[in-house]
Amino acid sequence: MKKNPEQKFRRLVAGVDECIPLLDGSEVVGINFDNAATTPPFKSVLKELNDFAPWYSSIHRGTGYKSILSSDLFENGRKLIKKFVGADCDDIVIYTKNTTEAINIVANALRYQAEGKIVLSTDMEHLANDLPWRSSFAMDYVRINHEGKLDLNDLEYKLKGYQGNVRLVAVTGASNVTGYINSIPQISYLVHRYGAELLIDGAQLVPHREIHMKEEGIDYLAFSAHKMYAPFGSGALIGKPEIFTHCQPNTKGGGAVTLVTHDFVDWDKPPYKEEAGTPNVMGVAALLAAIHCLQKLDMEEVHEYEQDLITYIIKGLRKIKGIGLYGCPRECKDKVSIIAFTLPEIEHRLIAKILSYEGGIAVRSGLFCAHPYVQKLLGLSKADIEWYRQNPQVNFPGLVRVSLGIYNTYQEADKLIQHVCRIAENIS
Ligand code: PLP
Repeated sequence: MKKNPEQKFRRLVAGVDECIPLLDGSEVVGINFDNAATTPPFKSVLKELNDFAPWYSSIHRGTGYKSILSSDLFENGRKLIKKFVGADCDDIVIYTKNTTEAINIVANALRYQAEGKIVLSTDMEHLANDLPWRSSFAMDYVRINHEGKLDLNDLEYKLKGYQGNVRLVAVTGASNVTGYINSIPQISYLVHRYGAELLIDGAQLVPHREIHMKEEGIDYLAFSAHKMYAPFGSGALIGKPEIFTHCQPNTKGGGAVTLVTHDFVDWDKPPYKEEAGTPNVMGVAALLAAIHCLQKLDMEEVHEYEQDLITYIIKGLRKIKGIGLYGCPRECKDKVSIIAFTLPEIEHRLIAKILSYEGGIAVRSGLFCAHPYVQKLLGLSKADIEWYRQNPQVNFPGLVRVSLGIYNTYQEADKLIQHVCRIAENIS
């Protein structure tokens, strides 16, 4: 028997009350449909931060009780993260501040092997998985098709065309604009067949779906805590240790060395080599608490619930005359719960402002740090883009993005649909 939405939601969080994020429903905060930017914290994450706050201390070389406690949490956390993402036993976990830093660390390490090599990124990336590669590698971009999904034929065409010279393919697990999930096993098969390695930007995928790095053939994975129900300032890079052995570290300083004189520097082995400076132990504690929570939830059910809710929103919005919907094909299961839209004759920023000021609904508008992707989705030509560049007084076109978290409800979805309908009616 098909369960109604409320039943589904209750089942989702049954027995895992601590996994309900704190904040929403309050009069002040309103409705949060901006989860792709940052999620609110799980209750358990806040509790962990509170409980751990008196105990944190600088790790590794301290011999005091608090230092030992913090070091244990930090080091054992690597094991938890590896298990969480199904990493290979030889993989290492490097703590980072976020996904951006994680990808920069890989780009820095690989630049020592860059000569004559190409990195393939794609048309649908967040800039975090595009700009770090530009400075050290020749680059090319795998195209998207007319629906805005990654074109795997083009991936194969490019891999073949570069005749074994592609060092790495850097692809997002899920788009932060359309929510499309890329087929990692298929991509991985092609990438490895042509002798390259695969990096997955997991920032949008990890909060919504289970990942098995080893089974799916992922060589490097990056994600951020603040998109998975923990606060800012921590993230992780998981991957093969070899590329980090012979490079200079991305950040240099204390904690990353074994011995230094004025004449030489002996770098420590990875992951320590890439973790110079005093680490964010509280941030790591929060990240680990969020992972504990996500492990308690049935991610298949989370995905199903979020999928039903986003489908409900798409259905409601589709009725609006002239609406432009992105990431909303009639049949699509390969999505995380993100969509984007435009309304005719009303600027994306204004729509987002009205939703906030009149409806108390938080969304996001613009290019979402995925400039080339949004430009392509909107069908802007090079000449169009250049015209806007030369005329900065005219606002650049963009989209309005709605992104769900596990805690959003059907009542909130109804409010969103009503308000978008009202905005559309008032301008027609
Ligand atoms: N990759 C994707 C797909 C994202 O959505 C984001 C953030 O929105 C990032 C990377 C960058 O994440 P952070 O700002 O946490 O480094």
